[in-house]
Amino acid sequence: MRAKKFIIYVTKCEHTTRLPIDVQLGHPFSCLVCHKPTTITDIHTFEWHAKCNYRRCHFGAWTGLSQDLAEQAATRHLRNAANHDGQVMTEYVQNPEAVKRLDQLKRSHLL
Ligand SMILES: [Zn+2]
Ligand SMILES: [Zn+2]
Repeated sequence: MRAKKFIIYVTKCEHTTRLPIDVQLGHPFSCLVCHKPTTITDIHTFEWHAKCNYRRCHFGAWTGLSQDLAEQAATRHLRNAANHDGQVMTEYVQNPEAVKRLDQLKRSHLL
């Protein structure tokens, strides 16, 4: 089973929150940062990403706004695949899933 994908949303109170990619928009919820009732106003498409360029290695981890978590994921991967050393990297890039979702929502005028 594949883990549910999470992406980063921007809230009306200008904080960010990590929620499932298929979350329903328009329902007010309580912001995890400032605890005010808020709604989603945008998607933050840039995220930290750990990846491995070794041959056909499929390792990859999106870690939201945390560079630390990306570094940790990379370190864990090297522990399991020591010969991939030098091929593992972290980067701050657009998450293609988030870009796709933002596009969808804009096309259907939900954002
Ligand atoms: Zn807030
Ligand atoms: Zn690898």
